[in-house]
Amino acid sequence: MTAAYDLVIIGAGPGGYPLALRQARKGWKVALVEADQVGGTCLNWGCIPTKALLASAKGLHFLRHADRLGLTAGTPGFSWDKIQERKDTVVAQLRGGIEKLLTGAGVTLVRGWGTLQPDRKVTVTGSEPAELEGKRICLAVGSIPGVPAVFPQDRSLFWTSNEALYTREIPDTLLVVGGGVIGLELGQVFAEFGSKVTVVEMMPQILPGLDTATAKRLLPVFKKAGLEILVGQKVEGLQADQGRVTCQIGGQTRIFHKALLAIGRRPNLRCLEGSPVKLEQKGPFLAVNERFETSQPGVFAIGDAVPGPMLAHKATYDAEQLARQWDGETGGPDYRSVPCCVYTYPEIAWVGLSEEEARRQEVPYKAGRFLFSANGRALAMGEPDGQAKALVDPEGRLVGAVLWGPEASDLIQEPTLLRALDVGGHAFSQVIHPHPTLSEAFLEAYENALGRNLHG
Ligand SMILES: Cc1cc2nc3c(=O)[nH]c(=O)nc-3n(C[C@H](O)[C@H](O)[C@H](O)COP(=O)(O)OP(=O)(O)OC[C@H]3O[C@@H](n4cnc5c(N)ncnc54)[C@H](O)[C@@H]3O)c2cc1C
Repeated sequence: MTAAYDLVIIGAGPGGYPLALRQARKGWKVALVEADQVGGTCLNWGCIPTKALLASAKGLHFLRHADRLGLTAGTPGFSWDKIQERKDTVVAQLRGGIEKLLTGAGVTLVRGWGTLQPDRKVTVTGSEPAELEGKRICLAVGSIPGVPAVFPQDRSLFWTSNEALYTREIPDTLLVVGGGVIGLELGQVFAEFGSKVTVVEMMPQILPGLDTATAKRLLPVFKKAGLEILVGQKVEGLQADQGRVTCQIGGQTRIFHKALLAIGRRPNLRCLEGSPVKLEQKGPFLAVNERFETSQPGVFAIGDAVPGPMLAHKATYDAEQLARQWDGETGGPDYRSVPCCVYTYPEIAWVGLSEEEARRQEVPYKAGRFLFSANGRALAMGEPDGQAKALVDPEGRLVGAVLWGPEASDLIQEPTLLRALDVGGHAFSQVIHPHPTLSEAFLEAYENALGRNLHG
């Protein structure tokens, strides 16, 4: 028998579960289909487990350099098993919280694999088979590691982020293919815990999207942190040989204990496999209009499955936008102020246009900078490395910002707010910033762009 709902969502990640909560709390009858765990990639295989491991790595780094603050920490050590257990506990705690919220809101969680069928129906296979029908369907199916078939598929040697996050071993040497966010974050974790890590990026810079000057400036910083980073180089002939990874980099044969393939992700459109439903695509993504509707009326899609930055907060933003549109609000999504964060140490974060993009788009701007080494709080914390940079247009509006240094991922929220609210004139200069705080660095950079900063 087919169960009827107002809304059937496939995928309980940071796109799907917030949409389920929003609509159920309005009284809609909502079914949420999930083949793995609620929380999706973000909670179980992405944002949260990486940050938990990075917190342990950063803690160890702090202990190793405690003498900077006049502290004696003995010989710092660690238990990888305990670090993994802690990470799993954090993930489980958050997962339990989401499940409680879903139950409290009256969402029907259907565990199993959903396949889209014609006429807004979904077949669920697995231990709880079901036939569901929705007045509306939303595909919040997310993404999976994008490893092309030409790459070796043996996941015991050639990890994706999924294997790296849950591994019980720390390899002596690790090749990271790809110098994006995932490659750098996980590369740093393994480097701190003892692996000799080599990151190879094919593009001329690490972190595509980050402004070029900052990306260049960060190379020696990561080198000092123990990562060998090669940019503008290709890994060729990657293969397994007697239980090791072999390849050529820059014409030289290199051997590693493991490889981490961090070369991007692709939308997970397997909910369409074996289905007579055909949806239009834009490249690897599902094509949607401003109302997140696919080429099939009544079938919507959000998050990593549709074009835009593949980030958890963008997926949740999509869910909120879609919920608002169903409430009758007009206006499509606006992705001009999506912040990007890298939670390495130092942290890196940016929002809006880079200098290169601003020049390409002929957006007028002046760049202002401020070093954390001139910020009282950063010095007091013993973390003087880093810089705030603001690109400001002649009307005082923020075009873009990039921060690297202590707490950059939290500090980016102020520029994000400025840009999202399109604040110009002298308004921001008059906002009182507490002293001494790291937030003063961005204010100084902004003021520097306008030629009126106090320090420097
Ligand atoms: C290692 C790593 C670190 C990351 N760190 C960050 C970070 O720090 N910050 C950030 O913003 N982003 C980060 N991301 C990206 C972030 O995880 C994704 O952008 C986000 O999870 C996308 O949300 P989503 O809801 O679109 O999809 P997902 O979170 O991928 O969720 C989709 C869900 O749908 C389920 N599903 C798919 N198909 C079916 C089906 N047919 N039937 C039933 N269920 C199905 C999947 O099992 C999954 O649970 C990271 C990703 C990785 C891999």
